[in-house]
Amino acid sequence: MKELIDQINKLKKEKNAVILAHCYQNVEIDNVADFIGDSLYLSQMASKTDADIILFAGVYFMAQTAKILCPDKKVLLPRLESGCRMADMISLNQLREFKSKNPDIPAVCYINSTAEVKSECDICCTSSNAVKIVKSLNAEKVLFLPDTYLGKWVEAQLGNVKVITYPGFCPTHLQIRPEDIENARRKYPDAPVLAHPECHQSVTTLADYVGSTTGIMKYATESDKKRFIIATEKGVVERLERDYPEKEFILIKDSIICPNMKWHTLVDIYNALEKEEHEIDVDKDIASKALNCINRMLDVSKNGAVK
Ligand code: SF4
Repeated sequence: MKELIDQINKLKKEKNAVILAHCYQNVEIDNVADFIGDSLYLSQMASKTDADIILFAGVYFMAQTAKILCPDKKVLLPRLESGCRMADMISLNQLREFKSKNPDIPAVCYINSTAEVKSECDICCTSSNAVKIVKSLNAEKVLFLPDTYLGKWVEAQLGNVKVITYPGFCPTHLQIRPEDIENARRKYPDAPVLAHPECHQSVTTLADYVGSTTGIMKYATESDKKRFIIATEKGVVERLERDYPEKEFILIKDSIICPNMKWHTLVDIYNALEKEEHEIDVDKDIASKALNCINRMLDVSKNGAVK
């Protein structure tokens, strides 16, 4: 593996490329990644890089987002099969129908959506900033898509905004059931439960902390506790175990793995970089509208107000 890592790092230098890796990726990919994090962090890094090539070790919509933010750069996705099952639950036509049934209400899309869907929404959000983004709209009602559970969690946090959700969901996070939390609590009564807001509300209401990937990692590293129950994708546990060996992290269930996040291997990354293949392109018109949607989010994340 060391030889392959060295070859990838050499190629990166020769081609002025950066590798962005999501925390749900196979953990060995971190050895070649320049930036590792959740969707918000990676889109911020993509918007700032001066590299000529961005290789995205993540799912399709993330590579699309990088291309929208950096239209002049070459954006590569090592394996084109790595789509997001939640993002694929809403097409442009389904979005239009959802909007037409709920006219004159601002539409917030989760970053886990296609460029086409983003191009017809007012603003997007990640799980790190969803509450802040919805609040920034100062609206009595908002449309939220595609993730119904993140939308309902945002509504519960704000209390004074009606969040009308589209019926999309993350099949990985929905595998976590309330009885899994109850069983884990019985087994590890001293361990706080940290859950992602893509989980069903019957799970998030049982958790001690609900937050994004970054939020969960921050909570676990800053807490004085020594043991944690993690109710999100396995990659988060693998990174916490690697970085904080003095603490114990219990994955709520062995099956909480996003198969689409696990397509890329180091060999795929080497091949994609070497051949500069699987380039992601986004139609210019769609990209320019989707860029407004993403930039509004980045502005609110930075400044706290919609521009
Ligand atoms: S974990 Fe769920 S939301 Fe995230 S990429 Fe996989 S399918 Fe999509």
